[in-house]
Amino acid sequence: MKKVLNYINGKWTESATGKFLPVLNPATGETLAEVTQSAAEEVDLAVQAAVAAQKSWRLVPAPERAEVLYKVAHLLKARKEELAQILTSEMGKVIDEGRGEVQEAIDMAYYMAGEGRRLFGDTVPSELRNKFAMSVRVPIGVAGLITPWNFPIAIASWKSLPALVAGNAVVWKPASETPMIAAEFVKVYEEAGLPAGLVNLVNGSGSVVGHAMALHPGIDLISFTGSNEVGKRINAQAGALLKRTSLEMGGKNAVIVMDDADLDLAVDGILWSAFGTSGQRCTACSRVIAHESVKAELEGKLLSRMGQLKLGNGLDDAVQVGPVINRASLDRIDSYVRIGKEEGARLLGGGKPATEGGLADGSFYEPTLFTDVRLDMRIAMEEIFGPVVSIIPVGSLEEAIEVNNRVEFGLSSSIFTRDINRAYQAMRDLDTGIVYVNAGTSGAEIHLPFGGTKGTGNGHRDSGVASLDVYTEWKSIYVDYSGKLQRAQIDNY
Ligand code: NAP
Ligand code: MG
Repeated sequence: MKKVLNYINGKWTESATGKFLPVLNPATGETLAEVTQSAAEEVDLAVQAAVAAQKSWRLVPAPERAEVLYKVAHLLKARKEELAQILTSEMGKVIDEGRGEVQEAIDMAYYMAGEGRRLFGDTVPSELRNKFAMSVRVPIGVAGLITPWNFPIAIASWKSLPALVAGNAVVWKPASETPMIAAEFVKVYEEAGLPAGLVNLVNGSGSVVGHAMALHPGIDLISFTGSNEVGKRINAQAGALLKRTSLEMGGKNAVIVMDDADLDLAVDGILWSAFGTSGQRCTACSRVIAHESVKAELEGKLLSRMGQLKLGNGLDDAVQVGPVINRASLDRIDSYVRIGKEEGARLLGGGKPATEGGLADGSFYEPTLFTDVRLDMRIAMEEIFGPVVSIIPVGSLEEAIEVNNRVEFGLSSSIFTRDINRAYQAMRDLDTGIVYVNAGTSGAEIHLPFGGTKGTGNGHRDSGVASLDVYTEWKSIYVDYSGKLQRAQIDNY
């Protein structure tokens, strides 16, 4: 059986606990590998290695640091298909999306390599004569990364690449479900020549390894993507030690369909956002806020297209919807469907695990559509993280925006309309970190900031130049070349 190990200080090792857990293929239930289960001691070893390696890495010129990132980009590109296959077999998303996700990591590597020659600060005029003023970005030290299984390489790339180009070292705990693609990404760093100790991979459970990272004094910041429950706990623990925390958490994203929308385009957008990655994208559409005058037609079109979606093993190119991540997730999704029915929502399609046609060994759920959903229902407010969509009828744009904004999350939203005035009003008033016009709720490009408002995050962003703010401190530097004491605000007034 293939073994997935830790990577600490440039060496692949198994945990001293001697414990391993199986890594499962969610489409087939087969065991793909087993992964080492670390303890707090291994976090400590990883942090020691990171602290030592960062001492010299911070002095390597950023353009030279970036050379490693360019190699990472080339290697990811060369191995794209192989990595996509590993990702799909362990996580379940269909192979086209697996390829797209690896592409996202490639794009991020090129983009952040470019930052090696930018990392812009400011030079500004001093208010005093013969004095120079500037601000520069400096690394923070050791970045602790805790990542989820739904975008196991893209999210890791959003975090590790800016951390490294800015001069930090990394200790990374990937999700328990996706250690294989994590190890492959680290092998790429190794092959690209990243010095030992700068990226350390510690596998194991969140409650042991993640917990130890949040509390470790040698980790200066935690960048986390995952559930609100865990994010809040990490924030409390790490925040008490004055560590910076960057948190990207849940969503309850909506597509608004106005009475003047191109309905077929809206249906394309909804299907892609709601059932792509089996509804397990953080940006997945789980609410459709439909103008009442187009609701019935939209329901009909959605239902007929949903019925044509092919479920199955994502490695099969013809499959459009893969499994959900595991049995526990399948049960959680099914319990939400039960709750929706009890609350009086009308189930139009789907609503149970899919087991026919050889799917019984995997964790499959039928694409599911509820309608006549009211805001006092739990399925309208809580993140389900599966292929379940709720249609909520509204009478106006104002009401649609109000419904969109009513949830505790604020990641992504979308509006289908052909009226430019309405589009701009929505762009201004939708309270989410990402807004789409005439497209579904997913499809982020890496050179823009990614993240959400309200309960989705704590003000930081992944990807884009904005991600550098997570991994750097600002240092303001004044050089007085007047040869005399000049007091700001005093000697010049
Ligand atoms: P999760 O259970 O919160 O897990 C995320 C990570 O945290 C995993 O690596 C997990 O380890 C670790 N963890 C668990 N308990 C921990 C603890 N006590 N201390 C420290 N770390 C701990 O989330 P998930 O179920 O994997 O992912 C689904 C969630 O992620 C959804 O809510 C989704 O919306 C969110 N998400 C958000 C974004 C975004 O950018 N906003 C993107 C993707 C996903 P184990 O795997 O070992 O449990
Ligand atoms: Mg979990």
